[in-house]
Amino acid sequence: MSFQQVCVLGSTGSIGVSTLDVIARHPDRMAVYALSAYSRMQKLAEQAMACAPKVVVVPDSAARERFVQAWSSSAPCAMPEVRVGAKALEETVADAQVTTVMAAIIGAAGMPAALAAARAGKRILLANKEALVAAGSLFIEVAKQGGAELLPIDSEHSAIFQCLDQHHKSVPGNPLANDVRRLIITASGGPFRQTPLLELPQVSPEQACAHPNWSMGRKISVDSATMLNKGLEVIEAYWLFSVPIEKIDVVVHPQSVIHSMVEYIDGSVMAQLGQPDMRTAIAYGLGFPERIDSGVGLLDLASMGRLDFEAPDLQRFPCLRLAFDALRSGQAACVSLNAANEIAVERFLNRQVSYTQIPQIIEHTLDRLQRCSDAALNSLDAILALDQDARRVAADFCR
Ligand code: NDP
Ligand code: MG
Repeated sequence: MSFQQVCVLGSTGSIGVSTLDVIARHPDRMAVYALSAYSRMQKLAEQAMACAPKVVVVPDSAARERFVQAWSSSAPCAMPEVRVGAKALEETVADAQVTTVMAAIIGAAGMPAALAAARAGKRILLANKEALVAAGSLFIEVAKQGGAELLPIDSEHSAIFQCLDQHHKSVPGNPLANDVRRLIITASGGPFRQTPLLELPQVSPEQACAHPNWSMGRKISVDSATMLNKGLEVIEAYWLFSVPIEKIDVVVHPQSVIHSMVEYIDGSVMAQLGQPDMRTAIAYGLGFPERIDSGVGLLDLASMGRLDFEAPDLQRFPCLRLAFDALRSGQAACVSLNAANEIAVERFLNRQVSYTQIPQIIEHTLDRLQRCSDAALNSLDAILALDQDARRVAADFCR
């Protein structure tokens, strides 16, 4: 791979910070071309002073003002060009100098820029799973037409990708060959795996965000607690690897050491193991097809002692069932599932609804919108319009 100029979308977030850490380890191979953030301008300015990007992208002129004020006169590099707004984000990922785009904006807000990177034929390191959940078919099609290279960053999908034979790795969304029997996605079960069911209505956002193994942003931490995250990952795998639903299984593995597995028709199961640190998947994406240092330490299996597995309990985790139902039902249901969940999680984090109301909000939204036709969802605008409808239905239900 030639020298990479990386555009890090969502650089102030958990994945963004880990990405900058890996890039900084390889000045001979890669550099940061652009950073983007939404609210944390002080942090963005600090990142830009450390990695000297050509461009930063911020959401509006007030954010630009805050970025400029946060820039220190003693910065070791020149202030980058500050671009403003969602369109600027789409234009920046398509800049000719950019080779690689880390798509790590959270939620459906990350879709337009990820699609723009696909259209522009870049190497896309896809952390933003929502782009595939809500717009899977469109995204894969655009990536194929644009000649983009799609490398999964979600740890489970990176694991599966690493376990696949070389011939599966060429084209985004290429159907897996018949020699793959199953994709086995592991799930930690989150902080409430063993909490008595009767206590779940009272759990707090702080408890939900205290993931036993991974340190992540708050939204995805809640999704891990409800296992809706695993549901989104099943949908993500469906599109990324073009497999029938019946070939995707979820197993709970509380230690999060095996990040996922591929079972072949000869009975061989290939697993990818490692510490729960996203820098491994990020380094694999940045270095592919080579392996590069990620800063992640040794995996000490002896001190770990054991690895456990159990089937997911769908009574405890109704969100996982809802996600499988949505995938069977079609794209409109997947758009609604994701949008309703974003509203439900936001309300839960603001203490406006309880933890156990999250699946109720999603189920209500799916019931209301499930008759929408998939055929109409052939453009990003149509998908975003349904996404907005679903947010309204979910928000009305929360009143
Ligand atoms: P964070 O919440 O930590 O970070 C989100 C980033 O997106 C921040 O840089 C934030 O900017 C920016 N952002 C938020 N809202 C908007 C918006 N409306 N428009 C533009 N930018 C916005 O999220 P994570 O890093 O945890 O997750 C990022 C993505 O990666 C998600 O799609 C998640 O599902 C996926 N992922 C994350 C994993 C993890 O370990 N964290 C694992 C696997 C997948 P600011 O902070 O300045 O407001
Ligand atoms: Mg994951």
